Amino acid sequence: MKKSSPVSEATKGKSTAPRTTTTRSRKRKHVELPQQQEQAAAAAPSPTQGRSFTFLLSEPDVLDCPICFDPLTIPVYQCENGHVACSTCCISLEEKCPSCCLPIGSIRVRVLEKVLESIKVQCSHAKYGCKVTLSYSDKCVHEFNCLFMPCHCPHADCDFVSSFYDLPLHFISEHGSSAAVRFSYDKPFAVTLQSEDDQAIVLQEETDDTLFVLHNFVFSLGNAVNVCCIQPDSLPKYRFEILGKSKGSSLEWKSFTMNIQSSSVDTTLSSRFLVIPSDYFADLETCIHM
Ligand SMILES: [Zn+2]
Ligand SMILES: [Zn+2]
Ligand SMILES: [Zn+2]
Ligand SMILES: [Zn+2]
Repeated sequence: MKKSSPVSEATKGKSTAPRTTTTRSRKRKHVELPQQQEQAAAAAPSPTQGRSFTFLLSEPDVLDCPICFDPLTIPVYQCENGHVACSTCCISLEEKCPSCCLPIGSIRVRVLEKVLESIKVQCSHAKYGCKVTLSYSDKCVHEFNCLFMPCHCPHADCDFVSSFYDLPLHFISEHGSSAAVRFSYDKPFAVTLQSEDDQAIVLQEETDDTLFVLHNFVFSLGNAVNVCCIQPDSLPKYRFEILGKSKGSSLEWKSFTMNIQSSSVDTTLSSRFLVIPSDYFADLETCIHM
């Protein structure tokens, strides 16, 4: 595999974290200051260690906005009764505390802001290779753009999950090069589609081993086709073309790949696709560009 891991987090793509309003996780989070991790086991910190220490936060929810449940980011506000809200919620609630109806949005909770700044946590994708340690309030944005977010192997019946750096090597070593249609960037290649069943055809590039999936969904009018790349959302998309020919006429679609982390059909049905009449299936050409 020719990819190399980055030394810093992704900066491209969306800059805001997705808002989560679903059921909260009540797991205990282990929050730590990793640079002093080993020293923290000592009973008393030495002057050179400063006052950093490792601790267990039994109620991590205190670091989240009690209204929208997203991790708190600076500035943090409170009403006169001490009810806390993030700045986004203050705006959406028109600066009226939902608990006591007093104004909220002018009194900062400085001590909590300092705590948010000083707490360092590991990225949740550490087990896939991410070595980033960051403040709690930056965690959400980082993880949304993290290049080590889990990617699922696109081979049917395989449940392997890794970062996209490790996935191509796994695919070749576990499933063989014949498990995918091998192609080269900028060179048209033929793909044979079925007109009856939904398909997910795995494509793998010859030089960098990047994995793509060509989805083929059966509809009443024909088949809907799209091309996705298995990689983090923050990475640039690829340009591609699909050309169908039938009895002297042709059909061409130019578009960009979608970034996906799982080849499951559910994630792609709602997205852009090309409907191809069945007649054009016999002579179908695809080309993916760097
Ligand atoms: Zn909020
Ligand atoms: Zn209040
Ligand atoms: Zn990360
Ligand atoms: Zn696999």
